[in-house]
This record gives sequence, structure tokens and C-alpha cells, in this order.
Amino acid sequence: MGISSENRIWLRRLFGEGVWFDEPMHRHTSFHIGGPADALVMPHDSTSLRELVEGCGTKGIPYFILGKGTNLLVKDKGIRGIVILLKKCLNKITVSEIPGGACRVSAMAGVNLQRLCRFAIKKGLAGLNFAMGIPGSVGGAIAMNAGTADGAMGDVLESLDVLFPSGKNERLLRDRLFFSYRHFSIQSEVKAVEKAKPVILEGHFLLTSSDSELLKEDAEKKMKQRKATQPMDQHSPGCVFKNPEPGLSAGKLIDEAGLKGFRIGDAEISTRHGNYIINRGSAKAADVLELMQKIEDKVYEQHRVKLEPEIIFAGE
Ligand SMILES: Cc1cc2nc3c(=O)[nH]c(=O)nc-3n(C[C@H](O)[C@H](O)[C@H](O)COP(=O)(O)OP(=O)(O)OC[C@H]3O[C@@H](n4cnc5c(N)ncnc54)[C@H](O)[C@@H]3O)c2cc1C
Repeated sequence: MGISSENRIWLRRLFGEGVWFDEPMHRHTSFHIGGPADALVMPHDSTSLRELVEGCGTKGIPYFILGKGTNLLVKDKGIRGIVILLKKCLNKITVSEIPGGACRVSAMAGVNLQRLCRFAIKKGLAGLNFAMGIPGSVGGAIAMNAGTADGAMGDVLESLDVLFPSGKNERLLRDRLFFSYRHFSIQSEVKAVEKAKPVILEGHFLLTSSDSELLKEDAEKKMKQRKATQPMDQHSPGCVFKNPEPGLSAGKLIDEAGLKGFRIGDAEISTRHGNYIINRGSAKAADVLELMQKIEDKVYEQHRVKLEPEIIFAGE
């Protein structure tokens, strides 16, 4: 499809140098994989973000919100339409006390999740330590309901500010938000009116007072555990498949199927953790997809368990 010359002029007028055409997405994903996006735009404030989203709605241009690209497989032909990168415009954390010893911490979507975790620890606020070591942005973590066995984003979220493609901003309280395992959605009545996924702007979290030193100790323990079991220093999107049920680990099933170390092109099943596929250098999305199919088939053959992807596929 590409971006028409009229729309290119519109984007340049709105964002000046903050727009890149035919931008390779491998530069923006932790997997270091992905073909070009027709355009990648980095809004500098929430006003220009709203104008962009509204303009895409009226002009019929598809858009994709990119957090830090740590849970994505962008396909080899890339993404049609506009990729919107929020890291510049939504990056503030604020805190307010509420009666009864709790605190409300508000973090904008572009904030680094690890920055938010460290902020909470420093302030002696408990509730977010489960997220220690999960890379990515606050917006991406909410969209994925990121978490571990110790908790997930939906457990501590009180409300959410969102922007709809119509340009309407809304604060959605917890009873209109639905969280399940690595999944988030909003009340269907709200969705039906707006007919599209909203942009997450800011999350408001309810945290409880605690001891900063104890939180720090716990966080260090969690980081140590992560480093010992996951290939955090290699190019990957984290766990590729969801655990099929509580207590049944996809990584263990893949390991038992004898697949650790198996490789297609430069895409390899990590020898450290069976549920990680790592890019050894120049892996293509097609290699990863073939490898994922191989894993699904082998695990089904051996365990009669159907694995479902945890990562998000983008593009074509
Ligand atoms: C080494 C490693 C370890 C990991 N460990 C964990 C773990 O323990 N637990 C876990 O749950 N995940 C884990 N992950 C996966 C990943 O880090 C999380 O899913 C993370 O929350 C994704 O955030 P992101 O900003 O990178 O989102 P992206 O990958 O950029 O986007 C993910 C999805 O969220 C959407 N999105 C992003 N921002 C917004 C927004 N503002 N509004 C609307 N939609 C938005 C995107 O459109 C996309 O659909 C790991 C990944 C790596 C590389």
C-alpha cells in the first residue's frame, strides 16, 4: 500500500524529522527481526499523538502502537501503515497518597517498566516487584497483561487512560477492564462504540506501603533467578508460547521433546530455556515461523498438548 505523497506531506507537517519512511523494524524489536514499516512516527507530545490517531481514523490509514518491541515478531515484508512509537511523548511517573496507607502511582505508556519498578522500590511501595526483569514499556505490559507466577499487571491496575481512534480520551475504571493470562481487553460496550483497539496512554496503579530495603532484596533475588534461567543477553522476544495450563510449562514440554538447540537458519531454540527462540544473527521471521510450527507439531505428537503463541505477530 505505502503512504501516499499527500499523507507523507501531512506527516512531515505534523512531525518534522520525527517520521521515518520504509523504516526497517528489526531496528525496533528485541528479536532484531522485521521488514520495513511504511512509516514510523515518534509523536513529541500527547496533542500531536491525538492528531495523528484521529487523522489515521479519518484517512483510513492503519496504525500499530509500538512499545519497546520486546514481545513481537514482525514479519519479513514489514508493516503496512504507520507504526507509532510512544517513548518520547508519554514518559512521566507521578505519585499521590490516598487515605489508608496505599499510594496511587501513575505511569505513562512510554515509561520503561523497569524504571517504574525501581521507582516503586525506592518509594517503599509494594505490588510491582513481580515485574522485575520484564523488559518493555508500561503500555506494552498492560496490553499484554505481562507478569510471572508472582503476579501480573491487571492485579495492581486501578484504572487506565486510553485514546480512541475518534480522538476521544477516556478513563476506564477497573470494572470495565478484563485481564487474563497474557491478555487484556476492554468492556465490549466501549469497544462496540469505538470499533478499534484504543491506545493506552497511562496506567494508575494501587500500591501499598512497605519497606524499601526488603523490596530491594526481593527484587535482586528475582533478577538473579531470571539471569540463571533465561537467555536475557540474547536477541529474543521472551517466551514464545503460553504455558498450556497453570503448573504445565511450555518450556519443559519443548525440552522433553528434545528440541533445545534445534535450529532453522539463524533461529535457534535456546539451550538455556526451551521456550525461548533466539536470533543468532540474521534470522528471518519465516525461519522463526517454521521453527514454531516444528515445535507445535513435535510437542503435540509427544504430549498431545496444543501450544499457543504468546508473542504478537505484526505485519505481513
Ligand atoms: C528477555 C525477555 C524476558 C521477558 N520476560 C517476560 C516475563 O517474564 N513475563 C511477561 O509477561 N513477558 C515477558 N517478556 C515479553 C515482553 O517483555 C512483555 O510482553 C512486555 O510487556 C512487552 O512490552 P513492550 O513495550 O515491549 O510491548 P511491544 O512488544 O512493543 O508490544 C506488545 C503489544 O502491546 C501493544 N502495545 C504496546 N504499547 C501499547 C499502547 N500504549 N497502547 C496499546 N497497545 C500497546 C502492541 O501493539 C503489541 O500488540 C519478556 C521479553 C524478553 C525479551
